[in-house]
Amino acid sequence: MDQLFLEAVPILERIEEAGFEAYFVGGSVRDYILGRPINDVDIATSATPLEVKAIFPKTADVGIEHGTVLVIMKSGTYEITTFRTESGYTDYRRPDSVQFVRSLTEDLQRRDFTMNAIAMDKSGEIIDPYNGQRDLSQKKITTVGNPHDRFSEDGLRMMRALRFVSQLDFHLDQETFNSLKKNGPILREIAVERILVEFEKLLAGDNRIKALNLLLESGLYQYLPQFAGQKGNLEKLLLLPLHQLTVTEMWAVILIYTNMKNIEASLREWKLPVKTIRSIQRILQLVKKEPTFEASTLEVFKAGQIHAVQAAKVKAIVNDRNVLEAEELMKLMHESLSLTHMSDLAVSGEDLLTWHKEKPGPWVKKYLEQILVAVLNSEIKNEKGEIKEWLNTCNLI
Ligand code: ATP
Ligand code: MG
Repeated sequence: MDQLFLEAVPILERIEEAGFEAYFVGGSVRDYILGRPINDVDIATSATPLEVKAIFPKTADVGIEHGTVLVIMKSGTYEITTFRTESGYTDYRRPDSVQFVRSLTEDLQRRDFTMNAIAMDKSGEIIDPYNGQRDLSQKKITTVGNPHDRFSEDGLRMMRALRFVSQLDFHLDQETFNSLKKNGPILREIAVERILVEFEKLLAGDNRIKALNLLLESGLYQYLPQFAGQKGNLEKLLLLPLHQLTVTEMWAVILIYTNMKNIEASLREWKLPVKTIRSIQRILQLVKKEPTFEASTLEVFKAGQIHAVQAAKVKAIVNDRNVLEAEELMKLMHESLSLTHMSDLAVSGEDLLTWHKEKPGPWVKKYLEQILVAVLNSEIKNEKGEIKEWLNTCNLI
């Protein structure tokens, strides 16, 4: 067993000693069987949240209404969720009621895909009533039970199916895919924040092109913010080396290819964090300024290293040039700047006011920028004396 499971075995034992059942479940068991690295382990138990809290001295209520208690141990913190079923999804998002049950099989039945409905006990024995292991070996994503019913209960599962395609390089079971094609409109009912999480995981996964292709083929894209009517434009993305970009850079590329005019409004509809929106806006501004050629030293200086590199990569994609080369070049260009902050300039506004007996005004900023450009372009050294002399010869002071 993986070290992370071994560390958590004492927790399963404590719950069992108290007279209840407890198992590892969900993504960690799936990834363990696949031989993929696991990040955290989820535990499911027949004990109710109150019973779990009575067993462990240190706990926190993180999602107690859904049956989840956080158990705090020396080895780390663990989410322990009571076996439950969900019934009635009148709003297509959240179950009307969560019912705690004492049976593992019932709990596994409410899970989205067979590969995510496998449990493992403390000795490493697998409990797999829905043939998740068979689907894992065939690299197949299959819903637990009828896909139509399962997607109608919670439309987000359709996006989860596609993000797993991207993360795991799996394919969709035929019936599951057919149902995906029919149930797209249900996505309209799902909170955009939840869709965003799955869409960004899709973008970050290694098999993003395969998953994006399915997003288009199934018609699901029409029900994502801003993507309706964009099939032709989104198809262009499939030909790009997106794997060389970060997710933020991918957003910039998506906005360019889908001709989004109002960037802020589009990204707000996607519910991206304001900080990310600002980064994307900055990248797009820089790309727009010099869409085809390398940026000037002044632009690189003003953009700062991070944005200058991001913009260079996006420009390279748009111009069908080598992205890694563009990235390296821009890094070198930024490293070779003779200064990176205005405060590094050897003269200040104060100096200019002393040398040039003028009243303070917009000229100070203008002169400073002229000096900056001259220093950045190595016309003069960043030295007070030399700068003063240069200003003299230019008749500026
Ligand atoms: P990851 O490795 O990305 O965390 P995961 O499979 O663990 O993948 P989580 O969102 O952490 O995904 O969910 C944990 C488990 O809860 C899933 O494996 C699945 O069994 C169940 N689950 C999560 N979301 C849903 C859902 N929308 N419908 C049904 N079951 C779900
Ligand atoms: Mg998980």
